[in-house]
Amino acid sequence: MAVQTVAPAADTPTVDLGPAVALSCRECGARSPLGPSFACPECFGPLEIAYDLPSGDPEALRKQIEAGPTNIWRYAPLLPVPADVASLPGLNPGWTKLVRADNLAAELGVTGGLHIKDDSGNPTHSFKDRVVAIAVQAARTFGFTTLSCSSTGNLAGAVGAAAARAGFRSCVFIPHDLEAGKVVMAAVYGGELVAIEGSYDDVNRFCSELIGDPVGEGWGFVNVNLRPYYAEGSKTLAYEICEQLGWRLPDQIVIPVASGSQLTKIDKGLKELIALGLVEEKPYRIFAAQATGCSPVAAAYKAGHDVVRPVKPDTIAKSLAIGNPADGPYVLDIARRTGGAVEDVSDAEVVDAIKLLARTEGIFAETAGGVTVGVLRKLLEKGLLDPAAETVVLNTGDGLKTLDAVAGTGPTATIRPTLASFREAGLA
Ligand SMILES: *Cc1c(COP(=O)(O)O)cnc(C)c1O
Ligand SMILES: [Zn+2]
Repeated sequence: MAVQTVAPAADTPTVDLGPAVALSCRECGARSPLGPSFACPECFGPLEIAYDLPSGDPEALRKQIEAGPTNIWRYAPLLPVPADVASLPGLNPGWTKLVRADNLAAELGVTGGLHIKDDSGNPTHSFKDRVVAIAVQAARTFGFTTLSCSSTGNLAGAVGAAAARAGFRSCVFIPHDLEAGKVVMAAVYGGELVAIEGSYDDVNRFCSELIGDPVGEGWGFVNVNLRPYYAEGSKTLAYEICEQLGWRLPDQIVIPVASGSQLTKIDKGLKELIALGLVEEKPYRIFAAQATGCSPVAAAYKAGHDVVRPVKPDTIAKSLAIGNPADGPYVLDIARRTGGAVEDVSDAEVVDAIKLLARTEGIFAETAGGVTVGVLRKLLEKGLLDPAAETVVLNTGDGLKTLDAVAGTGPTATIRPTLASFREAGLA
């Protein structure tokens, strides 16, 4: 449960990224200096940020956070960003609503309290604004001039918008078959948008090649060479959920999984809050949600495997359609260690769940939100999630971006503008 802390003398950073002091390998623990790298020079394991986090009085830190801006920068002391980050040009995402979902709870038989963390309220209407905001600070610090990414859709829009605001050139890569809403969102901010004939996994491979080529010089790929920084943005979901609950841990959280980065870092954020004394320690369970048409982690979980075998995605939940998830093994470990589970739902169940959430709580989720709410329902049916425990479910994107999923939803009737016609339609 220890927060990573180091003696400052051992890792004296040459850049100002606040409390971040070094990169640390998740597999072998080897340290390397803060820089635009993502793989351990010793063992090729994934790199994470190591911090010198504030020690001392948790009450003072809590007060400092509460007095901060109503966006993710209130947590700047816990993130790899310069202390004056809130005054730099950016989209300032976060502090989205934690909605108490009593109607949905009643419908599903949840008695312990159910909340939706609704990240559709971010500037480009998905959780991706959080991770991009951190990556922008790293890009600025390391002197990159072009912001880039491989995207399943939402990331492209988040990078385009953040680049526009912060004054970077942007060039983002997407699979050619994305939803119209996501393509428009990615293009409208004026950066370059390149559609690639292939799956997300093909796009990602292409970007890795580009980074190794002179053509990619000066390019910050938020989710590749800036990935250790990018990933830390997901911790703010953990921080916000706990602060919005009154500085308390929830008992259970249902989180969508594409690469698994978000889930892994929410767990990291919860552990940091405990270690810092900002919340009281108690067990919490983390549940991972996938669409059956791209469920390599759920398949491994159910088979009792530790390795995740890649799949070819085929699902309407395109934002989660990563067939070869980089953080898959860590998701398995976290679900098993915390007593959670990994579950998946069919596309039909995703659509049902989108409508269920809209009908009960007035929240129109994108397909990823249909995945988490659908998985919540399935976990309850299977007896894997405790209905008497306090539960938080993530909605990570906006339904307006995935309208096709609910195509066929439309007017109850089409009438002439007369009362007679209204009566004829049986609506009076
Ligand atoms: C990217 C994304 C996620 C999570 O992605 P990870 O790669 O697992 O971090 C979840 N929901 C939506 C809508 C997304 O766009
Ligand atoms: Zn290593």
